[in-house]
Amino acid sequence: MPSPEEASTSAANPPSFKSIGLIDPLLEAVEQLGYKTPTDIQAEALPHALEGRDIIGVASTGSGKTAAFALPIIQALWNDPKGLFACVIAPTRELAYQISQQFEALGSGIGVRCAVIIGGMDVVSQSIALAKKPHIIVATPGRLNYHLENTKGFSLRGLKFFVLDEADRLLDMDFGPDIDKILKVIPKERTTYLFSATMTTKVAKLQRASLQNPVRVEVSSKYSTVSTLLQYYLFMPLSHKEVHLVNLANTLAQNSMMIFTRTVHDAQKLSIILRTLGFPAVPLHGQLSQSQRLGALSKFKSGGRSILVATDVASRGLDIPSVDVVINFDIPTHSKDYIHRVGRTARAGRAGKSITLVTQYDIELIHRIEKVTGKKMDLWPTDKDEIALLRERVEEASRLAVNEMKDQAMSKGGAGGRKRRREDREGGADNRDRDDDVVEAGMPGKKKKGRR
Ligand code: AMP
Repeated sequence: MPSPEEASTSAANPPSFKSIGLIDPLLEAVEQLGYKTPTDIQAEALPHALEGRDIIGVASTGSGKTAAFALPIIQALWNDPKGLFACVIAPTRELAYQISQQFEALGSGIGVRCAVIIGGMDVVSQSIALAKKPHIIVATPGRLNYHLENTKGFSLRGLKFFVLDEADRLLDMDFGPDIDKILKVIPKERTTYLFSATMTTKVAKLQRASLQNPVRVEVSSKYSTVSTLLQYYLFMPLSHKEVHLVNLANTLAQNSMMIFTRTVHDAQKLSIILRTLGFPAVPLHGQLSQSQRLGALSKFKSGGRSILVATDVASRGLDIPSVDVVINFDIPTHSKDYIHRVGRTARAGRAGKSITLVTQYDIELIHRIEKVTGKKMDLWPTDKDEIALLRERVEEASRLAVNEMKDQAMSKGGAGGRKRRREDREGGADNRDRDDDVVEAGMPGKKKKGRR
């Protein structure tokens, strides 16, 4: 819930981008992107930001927070277009790309140049990009420090703006020491924005170390789902999950879909099953290389693949514009993850559906989620005859998937495995986002690591 003061700002007198004081090139850019009115976090943050204040923004992905910090930076750049201007720190590579895309889209009329500096990508081409003097650097912390230490001629001494995005996640991923290092080499005289979905003690400490007399703006979407989201569940025995999933993919074939699994193994297996049965599915999880992940995402975003089978690594921070349906193949253990997952659909006022597969072991979890969201899920109707007809084909596809994965695992033991390990080392600290995934060992039931 916003504080009374915050609520009155946005409710009594809804502002427009013009009345907030954006310059013409930015008014044109927001119009081109189809942003009609500022979102709550933008309406709260922009007036203070345009006055030059430091900002703490408590808001999560989907709230429009990126434009809330990008617009004032681009506006200031327009007034003083000299050298390296802003540095944005983000916890994951995908998020870093999305932030830079938004800077480029919003700054297209101004000629904003961005460089994305993230782990797992080629260091030399990043050094060349830095030498070209970008206005904005969007970086993950480990790789930025690498360039600060090793790339001749590169420094952040002229920086005017410093942004920490998803600060809670940065700190959860133990990027604290990397951020401290960066804070030591940027000018004291600067504007700082810190955005975080939650205000933890660690975030508060970071805030004290990095911001001066900040304004705190907050929108609460943390534990709620939007009213345009229709939430369903589907009850079945554990052994029937795959056939029910395929049946859903069939029934909803005209829609773009994200299917969430708890383990990398299931994400991989389900996408093979779906592809075997002719569905355009692509997996996304932390065990894929960086280029495979970006490839999967861009195939999905461009509409080339309409089903993304993802682990929770993919459920946060990603800006996937038009997902019609979210399917929870596994029910998330934490209600917070459920909200993040279903937040991939019904965005920006659009309608959307979520369907959660529930087995006899999940009843307590589903009740817990309903309690947190304050909404009861409806039963998704299924046709028993359709399921019976599909059963044999799905079982066959499932056997094929298991064999294909065995073959892949055997060939990975060779050259592929070595390549992956080298990439992990090169990615350094920035590869930590991979660890969010649950990785299954070859034997069923044996989990190597992960949250349960
Ligand atoms: P973010 O929370 O920054 O990840 O933004 C979520 C999505 O909302 C992105 O696709 C943005 O392009 C979009 N967006 C940002 N601001 C607005 C706005 N004022 N009106 C409509 N969509 C917006």
